[in-house]
Amino acid sequence: MVGSGLLLLPRWSRAVESSTPSKKLGVALAGLGNYSTHQLGPALRQTSHCRLTGVITGDRAKGKKWARDYGFPEKNVFSYDTMAQLAGSSDIDVVYVVTPNGLHAEHTIAAAKSGKHVICEKPMAVSVAECDAMIAACKAAGVRLMIGYRLHYEPNTVELIRLARDKDLGAFMRMEGANGFRMTSPKSASNWHADKKLAGGGPLMDMGVYVIQAACMAKVEAAPTAITARFGPVRRPEVFAEIEEFVSWEMEFSDGAKATCLATYDENVSRFRAESDNGWAQLGPPAFYYDTPVLTTSRGRIRLASVNHQVAQLDGMALELLTGSPSLAPGEMGRRDMAIIEAIYSAAKSGQRTSVRS
Ligand code: NAD
Repeated sequence: MVGSGLLLLPRWSRAVESSTPSKKLGVALAGLGNYSTHQLGPALRQTSHCRLTGVITGDRAKGKKWARDYGFPEKNVFSYDTMAQLAGSSDIDVVYVVTPNGLHAEHTIAAAKSGKHVICEKPMAVSVAECDAMIAACKAAGVRLMIGYRLHYEPNTVELIRLARDKDLGAFMRMEGANGFRMTSPKSASNWHADKKLAGGGPLMDMGVYVIQAACMAKVEAAPTAITARFGPVRRPEVFAEIEEFVSWEMEFSDGAKATCLATYDENVSRFRAESDNGWAQLGPPAFYYDTPVLTTSRGRIRLASVNHQVAQLDGMALELLTGSPSLAPGEMGRRDMAIIEAIYSAAKSGQRTSVRS
């Protein structure tokens, strides 16, 4: 007896309901650059609940090669201009947007309009206004929007989230985190990360998102209320003509907790620590790279499974869709983080303590 009950379910849930639980969801990768080639594609060979069934690319020959390598039909090679035709593909359930940040909104909205669920890479977009448009488009189309926050599916990070939620070590009140790598190439056809329009900003948009995420995890997904921030000096102007080289900031939470944070394109750094009055927890180093983050607390080292982050995330998200359970990393979380990023840039430019708009 499915008929009338189904009408009460959201449309994305109905789409899942009609697929058998044993069916693997079909994923199409939009953007076949580094992350798709070296992480997501290989991960989709190992996943249990989804598989690669199509691509969206500006390079048809490259798309055909992916079809041969991954064993999906050439008819499932789409271009960015023909994303509306995804609507006619029963092989594809989910579009995973892996293009430069400044194109996430355009590609997410196109995928949603074709009736497909969307996973969008971080950062969700380059402004809160774009995030709002993406959420509205997915809602209007009745599809889910999830953000590629792989660490929400990584066991050690999940344990940090649990420690925070259950207050096992007390409420975390002081956090410190940093994330970065040394970028050496200036803006070019192959390095859009240094291009303000395509990247939306510098290391804050890229590496800083992880620090924001970790601090919010330690505060049980609460958003900070106010920010103070400053840009570091530009030491290599030949690389950093359009974007910041590094930025540091403090986040204040409504219960008085504070997080001191850094995002940089100057050095390889990746750490996070949260302290309460009774104890502490620490991830890494590295806390945010693809390695298994080492979780240590004031009670000792916690040893949990070492997983491939992308396999865990893809299977986790596929299961959320198949079972209709809420997403651990919904579009609203990406929007929260973008509002924090906008407040950090505003605070760094003005030198003023800045409120985070909800
Ligand atoms: P990349 O430059 O290697 O790949 C981007 C792809 O987008 C390329 O195939 C390129 O051809 C395509 N593209 C389409 N339109 C384009 C245009 N107008 N200009 C430039 N490229 C265009 O980048 P990447 O490192 O794969 O990053 C892609 C996204 O994935 C970014 O949003 C990044 O933040 C995210 N990412 C996430 C993680 C993670 O751990 N979650 C890791 C790496 C990258």
